[in-house]
Amino acid sequence: MRWLRGGARDRTRFADMCLRFRRPYVFGGAVTVAKLAGVPWVGLPLVLLLVAGGLTMAGGVLLQRRLRRPSEPVVAATFVLLQLNLAVVVLLTGGATSPYLVLLTIPLFSQAVCFRPPVLVTGAALTFLFAGLAVLAADALPAVPPLPGPVGLVALAAVLTCLTVAARYLASADLHSRDEAVLDPMTGLYNRLTLADRFTQAQEEAADDGGSLALVMCDVDHFKSINDTHGHDRGDQVLIELARRLRRSLRAGDVAFRVGGEEFVVLLPGRDGAAAVQIAERMRLAVSAEPLAGLPVTISSGVVVATGGDGTLGGLLRSCDAALYAAKAAGRDRVVAAAPSSAGPDRPLPAPRPVTLGSAG
Ligand code: GH3
Ligand code: MG
Ligand code: MG
Repeated sequence: MRWLRGGARDRTRFADMCLRFRRPYVFGGAVTVAKLAGVPWVGLPLVLLLVAGGLTMAGGVLLQRRLRRPSEPVVAATFVLLQLNLAVVVLLTGGATSPYLVLLTIPLFSQAVCFRPPVLVTGAALTFLFAGLAVLAADALPAVPPLPGPVGLVALAAVLTCLTVAARYLASADLHSRDEAVLDPMTGLYNRLTLADRFTQAQEEAADDGGSLALVMCDVDHFKSINDTHGHDRGDQVLIELARRLRRSLRAGDVAFRVGGEEFVVLLPGRDGAAAVQIAERMRLAVSAEPLAGLPVTISSGVVVATGGDGTLGGLLRSCDAALYAAKAAGRDRVVAAAPSSAGPDRPLPAPRPVTLGSAG
């Protein structure tokens, strides 16, 4: 069982893929029913065999649903039964010349995305063994009349369709996991991990053209009391709406990140101090202008600017944080800019200076 299941990562991928591939399997079930239309061309016994293969697949999916979780033994057993079924079909339809030989690739492909390499290699060897036995046994049987040409085309179309659908699902799974890696699931903003990449890009541009970049760190004022008074769910709703409002008050190229519970950082590539303070003010006013989730909410922000690629992300964030702390100390609902020389990590933290512009104090 351990050989089949592998480690925790193998099991997670298996469960994820089984859930993702449910819809293609349902599609496969519909195709099974459509096989009945082939009776006039290939005869009832063969169609019944093919339908049995489809039902094996559907049975596997139904069993998984009953078990309420994807199960490796069930999927592996379904795979073996399906390959055996197809091998018998190949045996009865001419062996090496059977138009159904190509169908053996479909189950193998779906195993490739679910199971770990040793299991997959075993599955491929088993497929080859079944196909080989079917081809050799067919040679020993009396020759069967060849099936009409279009049957081979239909089999090929089935393979192409299944591979196309599977590839499409795999591609969307890849995009989905990339989103999961960079986005905060609650607010849809970029997460903390992404900030470093984006910062490096912006800093390289600033170093190239001698321009600047700015960071704004925002923190919700008295957020704990929102949670305490109205509950955690309402607090979450406030954060979701706040993120939406922050994003709406930004322009193309400016990027917001959720870096902590109720803390956000906005990266402003190419912006100087005056522009950054103006944007931070716009965000502050956008938040306080109307209630969020029905509650009055304010934010405090610290702003820092670096020119010509100076400073490190850590150093700039520390400066930003000190400016934010000053904004809190000065009464909240305001923007404080860090002193311009505070970009470097090794310099002492700045004495932040409050920005008078529009602060509510
Ligand atoms: P200040 O004005 O000084 O920032 O006060 P504050 O209450 O906002 O600051 P504090 O850091 O004490 O509280 C932050 C609270 O945010 C504490 C924590 O329970 C809450 N919090 C953190 N993440 C989440 C979240 O995802 N959802 C909700 N609802 N609350 C969160
Ligand atoms: Mg905080
Ligand atoms: Mg706070």
